[in-house]
Formats: sequence, C-alpha cells, structure tokens
Amino acid sequence: MDKQHTTSKRGDSGRRKFLVKAALAGIGAPVLSYAASEAAPTKEAVTEKTEKKWFSLFKKYYNKIDDQYEIASNYERMDQKNTVFSRTAWDSPIGLPEGQFISFSAKSGGQVPNPLEQIPGFGPLEHALDGAAFALHDVGTPLSIAGVHNKGVLNDWDTLTNPKTLHKHHFASPEEAAKYVKRASRFLGADEVGIAPYDERWTYSKWYDVEPAMNQEGEGIHEEARFPFKPKSVIAVSFEMDYDALKTPGYIGAASVQMEYSAMAEVTFRIAVFLNKLGYKAIPAGNDVGISIPIAAQAGLGELSRMGTLISEKYGSRVRLAKVYTDLEIAPDKPVGFGVWEFCLKCKKCAEACPSDAISMDNPTEAPTVPSISSHPGVKKWYQDNEKCMSQWEKLGMGCNVCLVVCPYNKIDNWLHDLSKLVVSAPVGRDVARQLDDAFGYGKFKEESIQEFWDKED
Ligand code: SF4
Ligand code: SF4
Repeated sequence: MDKQHTTSKRGDSGRRKFLVKAALAGIGAPVLSYAASEAAPTKEAVTEKTEKKWFSLFKKYYNKIDDQYEIASNYERMDQKNTVFSRTAWDSPIGLPEGQFISFSAKSGGQVPNPLEQIPGFGPLEHALDGAAFALHDVGTPLSIAGVHNKGVLNDWDTLTNPKTLHKHHFASPEEAAKYVKRASRFLGADEVGIAPYDERWTYSKWYDVEPAMNQEGEGIHEEARFPFKPKSVIAVSFEMDYDALKTPGYIGAASVQMEYSAMAEVTFRIAVFLNKLGYKAIPAGNDVGISIPIAAQAGLGELSRMGTLISEKYGSRVRLAKVYTDLEIAPDKPVGFGVWEFCLKCKKCAEACPSDAISMDNPTEAPTVPSISSHPGVKKWYQDNEKCMSQWEKLGMGCNVCLVVCPYNKIDNWLHDLSKLVVSAPVGRDVARQLDDAFGYGKFKEESIQEFWDKED
C-alpha cells in the first residue's frame, strides 16, 4: 500500500536561529560534559553502536528486554478478557450503556448519534473520512482492534498456518533470514520493522472474542491461548500516523489512527503470505493474540513512555504497532534506549494535558497505583488509569489522541527532531527541551487545522 508521508515546511529561519543559539549556548556544553563523565542508563548497557549522528552517543543497546526494564521474575501473563477493550463487552461500569456494545464505538460507527456532531471536526465529512480510513480493517480483520483473532479474509489461520509450497526455502542462517524478512516487510508496507524472539510472557494467557456479546448473543468466547504451531520469532512492525491529520481535532485526528489499523491488517497479511510462500507458518496480529508494546520494545522499535505507548526514535509517539508470529527462526534485534525513559521522568506534558487525569504524574512503579484488572502488574513502568481514559473516549465518540499530540517526541521537522534528540540526551537539556516545545506551541490542537486539512493540495 502506498502511503504519503507528508513533509512539513514548519520551522522558519528565525526560530531555527533561536534554537541553534539555545543549543550552542545553553545546551551544548552540558551535553559534552555529560558524554564524558556520566553513564546514562540505569542498567548496564551491553553493547553500544557508533553511528554517524553524534547525538547517538547516548543510544544504548541491550541484549534482552530484561536488561532494559525491571520485569518481575514471577511475571504472570495477562488474560485478554481483562483488557479495557474486552471489558466494554462484559463489564458495565466501563461505561457501556444498556444494550449496546460500547458507546464510543456505536457513536463512531454511526449506529447512535454523537451529541458532539455540531462541533467543528465532528461533522459528516470528518466522520465519513474516519469510517473510510478504518474500512479495510473492518473488512479484512474485523474486531482485531478489540483483540479478536483468526477472523476475516486477512487473518485466516487455517490458510496462513498451512503453507502449500513445492519446496521450503532454507536460509543460510538466522541472520540471513532477518535481512530478507526485514527488507520484504518494509517493501510490503511497514514503516519500521524489528525482530523479537518469541517470548510467551507477552502472549495473553486466554483469548477473548467479544463478538457474541457485541451482538447480544450471550457472553464472549473465552479460551486458553493456543497457537496452531510453535512460534520461534515475532516480526514487529510499526506504522506512522500522519502528522497533519493527527494534530487536527475531531474525527480527522481519529482517522489518522484508523488509517494505520487498516494498514496493519493489510501489511501483516502480506508479510504472512511472504513467509507462507517460503514454506513457513505465520499468524498476523494487530491488537489480538499478545501485547504489542513489549514485543516492539524487544525488537528494538522504541522505548516505553509515561503515557504507556511506545515511542519510536524515528516517528516519536506517532506509531501504531502490529506483529507477525512465525515458525521461521530469525536473528533478533536488540532492545534500544535513546533517552525516552529519562526524558519522561521530567517531562509530564502528557499527564498535564490528559483531559481525564488518566496518566501518572509520579515515578514508575512495579504495580499499578490505581487498582484495576486492566492494569497488569509485573513491569516497573508508568501505569495508566484505563477506566478514566476509556470514559474520555466514550464522551468523544472516538479515540482520544491528546497525549500523542502533546508529546515533545511528536515532531516531523527533521532538523528540530534531531535537535530535540540532542537536548533530551542530557540531564539539563531535558528541561530545556520541554520548555522549547511549550514555547513554540507544539502539540496543540487548533481548530483552523480542520479547514487547512481539507484545503491542502497534493
Ligand atoms: S488517550 Fe486521552 S484520555 Fe486517554 S490517556 Fe491519552 S490523553 Fe488521556
Ligand atoms: S509527553 Fe513527555 S512525559 Fe509524556 S510520553 Fe511524551 S515525553 Fe514522555
């Protein structure tokens, strides 16, 4: 699928000059002394690559995810029935109106009116755009966004786990397999790709199919998670959300998310078919089967953040994640740290902006501070209040993107992006970077961006 990645012309010369001055005068010196004197990560980094861009002095690679994050030795897998999406089908306190599946979904799908439809950004044009952006997901992998597996023409496990080829292709080594699988995945439409070893901890202990409950035909189907084959590797893929659309209020912002749900349905299917044609079994997955964030972190696609999403080095907070499980052995990538964790300790911008106070203002904890079956313990991180977040989605009749939009990592201007990477690498710079971000008004929804979106010429 061809995707247009818009390139912003933001960043006038005056602003650049100011930033350069700020970087050189106030930030450069601490960065250099920091590089010489301080070990950055809290856990020992096992390898360090030297890259052309000098700010990557602060980039760290780890052999495995347990070297980067504190994960309980007795970590127990999450039951998918307890995810906030699944709960909307069986747990009424989440905000499920009587007799309806999930009211934000019903408003978003147009089954019930959205009381906000008179507000700019919630009108018929924007609503139609949102529905169209999601359409391929709906047709190809219906309800995978709610965790439903093995459903739809693009997620047919019977076909994808029974490859019919005359000759199985054997790679010379797992490293050679990695090269070809990653190149093919990018060509087939993934914006970023990494390989993780299969780690059972991130597969849900039980899978849950919300569809019967959604159709008011009884309870959902709750069953032990069982793969039809033994996975050896997971191909983690990320999809960039359109910068201009995401920062637009209302359904245009939501459409930037829905586009990537459709993209992941199509692209993970293609990757699975590529593996099938080489004689290997494969299962494509979006939100279904297992938790995408630790798989993506394990595959080196980014770092955990305060707001609970993965932050990619290239696209910041503007990514959606998916994965493909396979029985092909592929050499894994290394988890990577590039300063997000340290920056989030100071920044808190998402927590301050969150309209439902769902994001923690505190330091990372080993267990959720707000008791909730949707907040799964066992990893030291920032835990969110999922119920509060979902109540905001319900009010809007669509997903809320405020935290993604305000995040200082959400930038498209490469020059500024590089500068921000530079300044966030240093302890002093982390405060400055947040202040610069505020000063230039990044991460703010602006009503005029709705018309700008429609007026934009290709
Ligand atoms: S999506 Fe919205 S309500 Fe949910 S955590 Fe982010 S800012 Fe808060
Ligand atoms: S807004 Fe700040 S604290 Fe929140 S995820 Fe982004 S960098 Fe981290």
